[in-house]
Amino acid sequence: MQSPLSPTRPKSPWGRFDPYDFPEDQDKEYVGFATLPNQVHRKSVKKGFDFTLMVAGESGLGKSTLVNSLFLTDLYKDRKLLNAEERITQTVEITKHTVDIEEKGVKLKLTIVDTPGFGDAVNNTECWKSVADYIDQQFEQYFRDESGLNRKNIQDNRVHCCLYFISPFGHGLRPLDVEFMKALHEKVNIVPILAKADTLTPIEVKKKKFKIREEIQQYGIKIYQFPDCDSDEDEDFKQQDQELKDSIPFAVIGSNTVVEAKGKRVRGRLYPWGIVEVENSAHCDFVKLRNMLVRTHMQDLKDVTRETHYENYRAHCIQSMTRMVVKERNRNKLTRESGTDFPIPVIPSTTDTETEKLIREKDEEVQRRHSEHEPEQEHSHDEHSDRPLEPHSEPGLDPGPEPEAS
Ligand code: GDP
Repeated sequence: MQSPLSPTRPKSPWGRFDPYDFPEDQDKEYVGFATLPNQVHRKSVKKGFDFTLMVAGESGLGKSTLVNSLFLTDLYKDRKLLNAEERITQTVEITKHTVDIEEKGVKLKLTIVDTPGFGDAVNNTECWKSVADYIDQQFEQYFRDESGLNRKNIQDNRVHCCLYFISPFGHGLRPLDVEFMKALHEKVNIVPILAKADTLTPIEVKKKKFKIREEIQQYGIKIYQFPDCDSDEDEDFKQQDQELKDSIPFAVIGSNTVVEAKGKRVRGRLYPWGIVEVENSAHCDFVKLRNMLVRTHMQDLKDVTRETHYENYRAHCIQSMTRMVVKERNRNKLTRESGTDFPIPVIPSTTDTETEKLIREKDEEVQRRHSEHEPEQEHSHDEHSDRPLEPHSEPGLDPGPEPEAS
């Protein structure tokens, strides 16, 4: 039998997860804010989610096959493969595919950004540049939209994660891999992937992973750092978390075909000597990667994009805009002073002084943010999130693309 409700106890309108629905709580008095998580949950489910994933790396490493295997869709229906001659002259292109997927009533707008042509040319100097520019352009668009009048329906196209594919045939990282990751690690969360793991024996996979991890550290590449798990988490969870961290770079296998293995139909690759199963964790890290991307870390990848990468971009932008305004103002003052026979005293108007004060304050804030983060960077920890901090470039050295003055 149900116990009678306390008259002051609010009944959650979204019933199913009513936090007051415990018999021991029935006669207590509540204000009702324990339903807040339900309200947030309901609102976000209604709004839907979005996620932008970039895949990069030499062509032929299995990027499109993996994306299709990850999201069980055919995102590359219209892809046109170029021949060798066309590929020599082709420059790095950025293509975008968007699909709306729904699972148990939860909608996800998934955007895949691909970089065909990367590493295909004879001379690949700076071929990461168009990828870096693309990421900056998305930040710039978001910055403009955020500063505009209609901030309600901003479309967020910022890249939340970049899966960087490393060839299984080399001895660790190639110079192009190092160059790409170093050029982009302050703009996007990089997750390294060891491609086509079925071409390597388990011992080779282990050795290659070790070498790649070592080189990532040696070259100072800052890949996406999984957040530390809370000390009060249970042991199973802690072990899974550690296993996930030790799996970097994820050794993956992709396949667009379903084969029969031990009486079951599975996604896999059929060879004369046997079958490799994409979703078998004894064969590769595909499931670990998918769980990380979708089940456990999607929100964190978005948070780090917003709080670290976009904030860095925004700080640079504001700083360079401020400099431009101050420079312009000083030039105007100079021309006013030198353009006359007798010096006219410049009487600063109130608005001018106020604007200058505001600009100075903003500049100081940006400087403060940088100097606050710099010492922490040496300890590589962020006091709030226990995550190694994303470094900031030297102020003034690389201000990033400046939005047009409007
Ligand atoms: P992309 O150019 O990087 O997008 O590569 P594709 O996905 O088009 O794959 C290129 C070729 O590699 C195709 O023939 C795929 O069937 C094959 N391939 C894809 N994934 C794997 C894999 O995990 N292992 C092996 N051995 N071959 C793969």
